[in-house]
Amino acid sequence: MSQKFDVVVIGAGPGGYVAAIRAAQLGLKTACIEKYIGKEGKVALGGTCLNVGCIPSKALLDSSYKYHEAKEAFAVHGIEAKGVTIDVPAMVARKANIVKNLTGGIATLFKANGVTSFEGHGKVLANKQVEITGLDGKVQVLEAENIIIASGSKPVEIPPAPLTDDIIVDSTGALEFQAVPKKLGVIGAGVIGLELGSVWARLGAEVTVLEALDKFLPAADEQIAKEALKVLTKQGLNIRLGARVTGTEVKKKQVTVTFTDANGEQKETFDKLIVAVGRRPVTTDLLAADSGVTLDERGFIFVDDHCKTSVPGVFAIGDVVRGAMLAHKASEEGVMVAERIAGHKAQMNYDLIPSVIYTHPEIAWVGKTEQQLKGEGVEVNVGTFPFAASGRAMAANDTTGLVKVIADAKTDRVLGVHVIGPSAAELVQQGAIAMEFGTSAEDLGMMVFSHPTLSEALHEAALAVNGHAIHIANRKKR
Ligand code: FAD
Ligand code: AMP
Repeated sequence: MSQKFDVVVIGAGPGGYVAAIRAAQLGLKTACIEKYIGKEGKVALGGTCLNVGCIPSKALLDSSYKYHEAKEAFAVHGIEAKGVTIDVPAMVARKANIVKNLTGGIATLFKANGVTSFEGHGKVLANKQVEITGLDGKVQVLEAENIIIASGSKPVEIPPAPLTDDIIVDSTGALEFQAVPKKLGVIGAGVIGLELGSVWARLGAEVTVLEALDKFLPAADEQIAKEALKVLTKQGLNIRLGARVTGTEVKKKQVTVTFTDANGEQKETFDKLIVAVGRRPVTTDLLAADSGVTLDERGFIFVDDHCKTSVPGVFAIGDVVRGAMLAHKASEEGVMVAERIAGHKAQMNYDLIPSVIYTHPEIAWVGKTEQQLKGEGVEVNVGTFPFAASGRAMAANDTTGLVKVIADAKTDRVLGVHVIGPSAAELVQQGAIAMEFGTSAEDLGMMVFSHPTLSEALHEAALAVNGHAIHIANRKKR
């Protein structure tokens, strides 16, 4: 007889594992199916985020930044650091250890919360049945009151740049280089391309980023994107906009990339090439023909605002559905769905999902850009504050960038917070919290901020919206 569960989750990434834990917390008999084989040769929970995404990339970003600081930025403090070297295999091994600890931690959380873990490939059948093909090929079927699909995404591959074993790699391969490439090419100036390009540039690689679009970071506020392009270029990233890759040739451990830009066809040779042109939803062999679950025109599982698919009792969350491909979006959808299955009225605010690019300085935002708001005909007041005027940033010798707060000119309600600068991700989160509670720029301005903090830049930018900033000259006097 097949086992019966209240909730069966397919995929144990940040969407799936969070949904499973929350469902179990709510008293629902919950199972989670995962098939990813980690470095230890065993099934590893945590999905893209923990194994080959957010966490390993941040581990390498932090290691490489420390190296860069020791080499280039200590002298200003009077610290002499001579003969600073980088042991790349040790750096990569540290990252692997963090991944091992975190993925193992999910297994512990599953046990603690009573989530039943199944290893293998899950497939949605008709009538809310889920088939599991185990790693040994054995097939079993679970009966599910509810199914949550959280099968995630994988890197897009493009015909002009097919992956090779070690020269043309995707983001996963770029987390495993055992030496610093002398010349590194990156296709795609998106979040992943910029983060991974930064890691290897800090360690000494000569990095060229080829981006097909003419516009840099089109989703970011234009003022922030402009500053980001300036700063990253100054750091040595050769960002070539309007450069579409049309072909690659691998010869003698090098790759020659052909691309076209405003000047016609160009060629450039690299030791390694990272293909970072986006991610696509994973739906291979996931849905039986009679499952009734449908995809949208872009291949994502079709869902409504509450992550319901076309079949009652079947939900889908995270990267496999519409919206931002971000771990925190996947997790919050997981919580929402688990709570709704348990009969709660949960929902999530899709308007306040923060975006972060973990370069240095970080680039982060929440809410709308000035261009979006103007396009919608909303009149706005804008306040900015440069970190160059922040005492805390000066003390840390980290003064690049600015905070920008955008508020509705009529109501003063904050509609966007955009930051490029030190700890931008944390500052934007403060903006997100305030915006969730419908803050006005005046409210933020009236709050007491600790001194000296980087957060004071957010305070001052909020004050500047209405011309009340103290530590810079106000554009508007009120
Ligand atoms: P995934 O994490 O992709 O998990 C899906 C899981 O389902 C996988 O483990 C897969 O093996 C499993 N699965 C799929 N099909 C089946 C099946 N049929 N049966 C069983 N199991 C199955 N996001 C951020 O928010 N912040 C960041 O800093 C960040 N950095 C990133 C850096 C990199 C290099 C990359 C690649 C991604 C990064 N992301 C980041 C994106 C983030 O990793 C994803 O948005 C997030 O992992 C999506 O979560 P998910 O649960 O939807 O899917
Ligand atoms: P993201 O989806 O944010 O990870 O960004 C991926 C980027 O890759 C996008 O900005 C695309 O414009 C870019 N891109 C896609 N295909 C190509 C190509 N053939 N050559 C150069 N850039 C590309």
